[in-house]
Amino acid sequence: MKDRVQGKGVNYMFTTKGYAAHSAHEPLKPFSFERREPTPTDVQIEILFCGVCHSDLHIARNEWGFTTYPCVPGHEIVGRVVKAGREVKKFKEGDRVAIGCMVDSCRTCPDCEQGLEQFCQGMILTYGSEDKHTGGVTYGGYSTSIVLDQDFVLRLPDKLDPAAAAPLLCAGITTYSPMRH
Ligand SMILES: [Zn+2]
Ligand SMILES: [Zn+2]
Repeated sequence: MKDRVQGKGVNYMFTTKGYAAHSAHEPLKPFSFERREPTPTDVQIEILFCGVCHSDLHIARNEWGFTTYPCVPGHEIVGRVVKAGREVKKFKEGDRVAIGCMVDSCRTCPDCEQGLEQFCQGMILTYGSEDKHTGGVTYGGYSTSIVLDQDFVLRLPDKLDPAAAAPLLCAGITTYSPMRH
């Protein structure tokens, strides 16, 4: 474990393995990178399954023109809580959980205040957004673990097959939302 000075405090980091795109024209390759140790409101999740969304391909190939490399895609994540910060109330070790396309938001804009974080202009995407904890970019679910605030973690019902549930986190909700409306 290494430590890294970040602002006034120190963020402890641990190494995670994943797959990253290093340019628009190469296949993904094994990639090791650092994630933060959970803060008091974070959970650390062992990733068990991750869907492959077509957006992952667009971004890996820089087809939308804003990719930062190396890029670890993946935003249809299913896993298990392995560590919970001391102020985490919503989850405990062993819980089955899921994560979609965002891992944080500004928390203060009118959309965030209404619980509509998906419209927040300051949303932190699961990968490729600025990561204020590490000073780098966020890395996604094509990896062995992820650390994020409890407010952006979803509970996965025991009845759902975890592998089949992963695509619900982007493809599923994208379809469900307009039908519901
Ligand atoms: Zn906001
Ligand atoms: Zn997607």
